[in-house]
Amino acid sequence: MNLPSFTEPFVVHWFRRDLRWHDNRSLHAALTSGLPVVPLFVFDANILKSLDDRDDARVTFLHQTVSLMAREAQSRGSGLLVAHGTPSEVMKRLLETGQFRAVYANEDYEPYADERDGEVSLLLGGNDVAFHTFTDHVVQAPGEVVKPDGNPYTVFTPFSKRWHANLKEEHLRAAPSEEHLDQLLQWSAPNLPTFKDLGFEPSDIAFPDAQVDLQVVRNYAETRDIPSVRGTSRISVHLRFGTLSIREAAKLGFKHSDKWLTELIWRDFYQAIMRAFPHSMIQAFKPQYDRVPWRHDDAHFEAWKNGKTGYPLVDAGMRELRATGFMHNRVRMVVASFLCKHLLLDWRLGERHFAKHLLDFELASNVGGWQWAAGSGCDAAPYFRVFNPTSQLEKFDPDCAYVKTWVPEWGTSHYPAPIVEHKMARQRAIDTYKAALT
Ligand SMILES: Cc1cc2nc3c(=O)[nH]c(=O)nc-3n(C[C@H](O)[C@H](O)[C@H](O)COP(=O)(O)OP(=O)(O)OC[C@H]3O[C@@H](n4cnc5c(N)ncnc54)[C@H](O)[C@@H]3O)c2cc1C
Repeated sequence: MNLPSFTEPFVVHWFRRDLRWHDNRSLHAALTSGLPVVPLFVFDANILKSLDDRDDARVTFLHQTVSLMAREAQSRGSGLLVAHGTPSEVMKRLLETGQFRAVYANEDYEPYADERDGEVSLLLGGNDVAFHTFTDHVVQAPGEVVKPDGNPYTVFTPFSKRWHANLKEEHLRAAPSEEHLDQLLQWSAPNLPTFKDLGFEPSDIAFPDAQVDLQVVRNYAETRDIPSVRGTSRISVHLRFGTLSIREAAKLGFKHSDKWLTELIWRDFYQAIMRAFPHSMIQAFKPQYDRVPWRHDDAHFEAWKNGKTGYPLVDAGMRELRATGFMHNRVRMVVASFLCKHLLLDWRLGERHFAKHLLDFELASNVGGWQWAAGSGCDAAPYFRVFNPTSQLEKFDPDCAYVKTWVPEWGTSHYPAPIVEHKMARQRAIDTYKAALT
């Protein structure tokens, strides 16, 4: 990374899950710190090397987003520093400038982020550079919504009640970073790394707009479970990368739909669970569920991944995921239940498959959703609740509009027969879970 020589002291705002100029807590604090701000985004080599697909759509989303942000910075006589490397390498390079005084960043609660920030914080501390962090990715930070005795909630309903009781005006107060952009350092940033520099290729997946459709939110309680209509907001990728502010979203929830707001609180809940129980990202939250003797069946796993199980709602969902990087929530529940109940395959296999393909992949919500389906999660469906994929289809896609979109050969001789028989698979799941848990 070639940096120009800096002639005056500066601070850095490090963009991570907060890719926006407006209503950004850490950016606002940096811009009002009294020193000019160098905005930074790092294409983290540690994360990039863990991705399997060279055309991973998340990399394209990031590249497009930071390119737009860089243009915006340029139009203000400044620049966005977009680096490629490990965060520690990039910070070391900034330390060499001799003018680097502090880093401002928003909190990130994933176990990897914890490790990364610990390393960066040590490095900066050893060089007298401060590392300031702020709550921005969630409305209420992990550790804020706790039981009266200070312990974390593990059940959603009491968490949600306490979330409401604990909510203060400042939780939703906007941080008007966009009003202080004149405090960005006036400089010319190096060119952005290209896809080739990053070792990737652009994906052709289309991304949803970073906008909340108020009509959808108002009708949410009625339309949220129907996968064939635009009945949910589709903002998950924007909350994931911070291209939308969670505070703005929550305020819309308060105004237009309690039901929708509740979904945003689920998001806070799962982040809090991840922070309090990081081991549950790879182990069953209820440890006895790790005794379930999962089957090993590559053919069934492949059929599930490729949308060829012979159950149309499952297949439609799996194909939607591959084609768009998105899957409707109702269908996520059905395909997840199908994998760990009907096929008796380890929920972690499904969780990793989602992690690879979902544009909105968030470790906390993904593991939360998977452990809910497997029965092993903190506030999970009981093990004997096995979704019937055929009645789910009849209930939520009665005219098969969703299925017909994603499984055009359904109803013809080209469509596969069911890979497991429902009644047998359901009973096998209940018996196996029961034996393992008692
Ligand atoms: C097995 C499984 C895996 C999942 N993996 C993820 C994931 O990796 N990332 C992710 O953001 N969501 C995940 N979800 C939750 C949910 O399916 C998605 O958030 C939702 O489908 C996104 O669509 P939307 O933006 O239209 O949501 P809307 O229904 O419009 O909801 C608004 C927002 O609320 C949040 N939200 C909604 N439902 C949930 C929920 N159950 N848990 C936590 N947050 C929620 C999301 O940020 C969403 O964008 C998963 C659910 C299941 C069952």
